[in-house]
Amino acid sequence: METPAKKRDVLLIGGGHNGLVCAAYLARAGLQVTVLERRGVVGGAAVTEEFHPGFRNSVASYTVSLLQPRVIDDLGLHGHGLRIVQRRRNNFLPLPDGSYLLTGAGRTAEEVAKFSRRDAGALPAYEARLDAIADVLRALALQPPPNVTDGGWWKALPELLRGAKLGRRLHALDETLRQGTAGPVLHFRGRVPGPLVRERSDQGAVRLRRHRRQLRQPPYAPGSAYVLLHHVFGEVNGVKGAWGHAIGGMGAITQAMARAAVAAGVEIRTDAGVREVLVEHGRAVGVVTAAGETLRARAVVANVNPKLLYQQLLPATAVPAATAERMRNWRCGSGTFRMNVALSRLPDFSALPGEGDHLTAGIILAPSLDYMDRAWRDAREHGWSREPIVEMLIPSTLDDSLAPPGMHVASLFCQHVAPELPWWPQLGRPPRGSRRPDGRHGGSLCAGFRRFGTGPAGAQPAGPGARVRPWSAATSSTAR
Ligand SMILES: Cc1cc2nc3c(=O)[nH]c(=O)nc-3n(C[C@H](O)[C@H](O)[C@H](O)COP(=O)(O)OP(=O)(O)OC[C@H]3O[C@@H](n4cnc5c(N)ncnc54)[C@H](O)[C@@H]3O)c2cc1C
Repeated sequence: METPAKKRDVLLIGGGHNGLVCAAYLARAGLQVTVLERRGVVGGAAVTEEFHPGFRNSVASYTVSLLQPRVIDDLGLHGHGLRIVQRRRNNFLPLPDGSYLLTGAGRTAEEVAKFSRRDAGALPAYEARLDAIADVLRALALQPPPNVTDGGWWKALPELLRGAKLGRRLHALDETLRQGTAGPVLHFRGRVPGPLVRERSDQGAVRLRRHRRQLRQPPYAPGSAYVLLHHVFGEVNGVKGAWGHAIGGMGAITQAMARAAVAAGVEIRTDAGVREVLVEHGRAVGVVTAAGETLRARAVVANVNPKLLYQQLLPATAVPAATAERMRNWRCGSGTFRMNVALSRLPDFSALPGEGDHLTAGIILAPSLDYMDRAWRDAREHGWSREPIVEMLIPSTLDDSLAPPGMHVASLFCQHVAPELPWWPQLGRPPRGSRRPDGRHGGSLCAGFRRFGTGPAGAQPAGPGARVRPWSAATSSTAR
């Protein structure tokens, strides 16, 4: 079935946040754009859903900092209902010995001094180094990366020149930064802050704050600290390096983007998965949807996983051999597990009992670098960390639209889990000590919290001095 005669410039496959932003910019430039989204809702990994009656939360992506201020301004997202609030504290690390680190609100150095005066003294210089590098990255974020792989040397030459400009920016940093910290950017895919942090920090807790989100990597691995710089160069409401919450959850961001796109003239179709990209004479000229409808346009833009695009949506004959080989060999998958929890009341930490600003922070449950390393090695060996690294956020402490009065929701971002388990589902039964990454893991995760003095109803404290108050009513989970 071919739908006739609508003048359309661009068909955009995938209504995730990047697709919506792209569509809005193209429409603002005067093009006729149609977004085709497979699911019944746009937003991709940035959506809010009701996961238990009366309890809503972001389903995958759960906290804001990397949303480009320029995109917010250009698309007028605030005018389309977006409101972002900053966490009152950045991070809270309760430790099983009853101590804790609570960063942000101008008191980080004071907090660090509880563990090491030397580290507290070194902190301003350390932060300044990171900020200087983050500024370089911030300036690069809106530029396309140099592409020296496509076309002949005459195409590569200007791209190499652009690469040289990047080198010049880095060279403009002072010599200490170049040697001590620009090194990390140059081996950006290598070990970023490890040497720097070790040089500067006596105490594990300080390092942990920085290492908390190493995906699929142990804390000592080259490349693992990429996430550190990635996070430092974000910002919220003009505050560099800050993290925030979108009122209504991450879906509020993509809903505002969808409204901005529609206001610019974009047509958005949901429940409209694409099953094939049509290629004629070496050009993408349209798509066939899952329902069998053929749509044509002057250009097709894909905002989906490249493996899906090159291996399933495009005809094999249209994919260059080198690209096909790269896609065959490219391994992608997530080592994280996301879970939402409905709370009948706020958790209570023995390290810092009662309610307070610490409950608005990113709460990191991972008491040492060795613990993190073990979590990763466990996942390598068993498919699932028996004691995972958990970042918990309780967005309802900043946003009362997410849960019934007096109740709360928590996002748990857990590491590590192998994207594919060798023994499951074919073998049916996990080896001793291994666990399946599904909803049942909620139990084992919550059990892990007991070490930190908080846990589900009826849980017993495991650590010395731990105190447990009941929480947890229902869970939803995604292994991604
Ligand atoms: C568990 C998790 C936690 C995260 N946490 C954070 C966080 O806290 N903060 C942060 O900034 N980032 C976070 N991220 C990253 C962030 O969510 C992603 O970078 C972002 O959502 C990517 O957006 P996208 O538009 O590129 O792709 P996606 O969001 O993946 O969107 C792709 C869209 O394409 C659609 N699609 C797929 N196939 C087809 C098809 N055949 N036809 C039509 N449509 C199709 C999908 O349904 C989807 O809507 C997280 C990601 C994950 C997975």
